[in-house]
Amino acid sequence: MNHEVIDGVPVLWAEAPGPLEAVLMFGCGVRDETMRTLGVTHLVEHLAMSTLPRLRHEHNASVDLLTTQFTCTGRPEQVTAFLAAVCEALDALPLDRIEQEAGVLAAEGGQVADSATGELLSHRYGVQGLGLAAYRGPGPDRIPVEAVRDTVARHFHRGNAVLVLTGPPPAGLRLPLADGERPDRSAAQPVLHTGPSWRQEDVPGPGIALRGDLDDLALLLACKILTERLRATVRHRHGLAYEVGGDALHAGPGLGERTVCLDAREGQETRVAELLWEEASRLAAEGPTEAELAEEVTDLRELYEDPRSIGLEIGQAAGALLFDDGYEDPQTRLAALAKVTPGQAREAFARALETVLLVVPCDAEVDVALPDGRPLPRYSCSDDTGLPAGATVLRPPLLARLRSGEARRARLAVDARGLWMRGSEDDVHHVPFAEVVAVEMRGPGRVVFGRNTCMIPVVPELWAGIGEVVDAVDAAVPEHLRYAASALRPAD
Ligand SMILES: [Zn+2]
Repeated sequence: MNHEVIDGVPVLWAEAPGPLEAVLMFGCGVRDETMRTLGVTHLVEHLAMSTLPRLRHEHNASVDLLTTQFTCTGRPEQVTAFLAAVCEALDALPLDRIEQEAGVLAAEGGQVADSATGELLSHRYGVQGLGLAAYRGPGPDRIPVEAVRDTVARHFHRGNAVLVLTGPPPAGLRLPLADGERPDRSAAQPVLHTGPSWRQEDVPGPGIALRGDLDDLALLLACKILTERLRATVRHRHGLAYEVGGDALHAGPGLGERTVCLDAREGQETRVAELLWEEASRLAAEGPTEAELAEEVTDLRELYEDPRSIGLEIGQAAGALLFDDGYEDPQTRLAALAKVTPGQAREAFARALETVLLVVPCDAEVDVALPDGRPLPRYSCSDDTGLPAGATVLRPPLLARLRSGEARRARLAVDARGLWMRGSEDDVHHVPFAEVVAVEMRGPGRVVFGRNTCMIPVVPELWAGIGEVVDAVDAAVPEHLRYAASALRPAD
């Protein structure tokens, strides 16, 4: 792999088969946004791409949780022209096109993670950073123009970019980006919930997230083996699932989440969740076999030695460069992988299982135990079942109370510190005003989102006499966190 610097931007390249491919990568993704500005990076990307002339060669752009990438494939002069045009666009975004591009974004939709992974991340991190993966945000037409300017200034400059090429840089290649400071990535993402626990969400099947060192090769192999075992049992033996997959998500230096998720045949959600838990527990107790480890290492060797994976490999090195992470070449990695013993893989997995978050579909109930025999606790957003003394308390409208017992039990409370909502099952949701991440204004009502993933709807359909609560919310929550509901999507 070769390393050069062009116009202050690191360029990593290696010869690979096929036409020249370029990826201009910026260390800016959804995790750099907030609930209030969710989607701003995608809007920046669209605004930049909207300035390009009609191109006949392959090109694209995308935003994920960690990065924004502008990619193209073509003749060297086409690649050179594309990259120069993208850099120039980022330096002078057509802000007058925000409205049109917001409409395009609404049509495109698009999620940065599948729903189970998104829920697991929001469960772990709350409504911030990686946890934003589960949210839609205020809508593309509600992103403030200052947030667009701020995102470009902080992230889209040569100090936060890397270019990846599958061949030598073409003559005359220029990357005319603004100057800027690399964002400080030394802190780990703040965590809401360390685990272990389980919870129900609107997901197609169960999934787990384990928090640990992403560079720990024993944990990497253990998670791959768990995925293989689930494929063999849940899919092939029992025919209960189709998709079995895993992911790794970087959450700060040396830290991240490893996830394993499955879908489930309708009606079989609980059974699939139990099988996932059984296999995870067995792996933590007994570890993998020598043969399973050897198979995974062989698969990885084949992948690393495939010349088509060179692009992926340079991409990985580019990510390590952007996020000040260590990078080891495939040969060094393979040598270390081959040394992992079954005992080490078992130990790494058992340790990570202490942080487990299990998410299951809403109609699945699980009753499972941790390796030490304790039941895996069900997540509850607060230990409290009571409402604070002295608070103003609202009840649902009279008609609703007459019709349903649930409505007779429900309460909404407010005091100077925040909101509380008691649902039908005596569970109390609490959002302190200091932890409000966004307030959606729906006519006379307000929907209040807390960092802790609790969402409290203060709307006249649900509560009688909301005026006082709405006034308290408006007085306590800074104006920049409040927005009118998007005109581009139907209310839910
Ligand atoms: Zn809650």
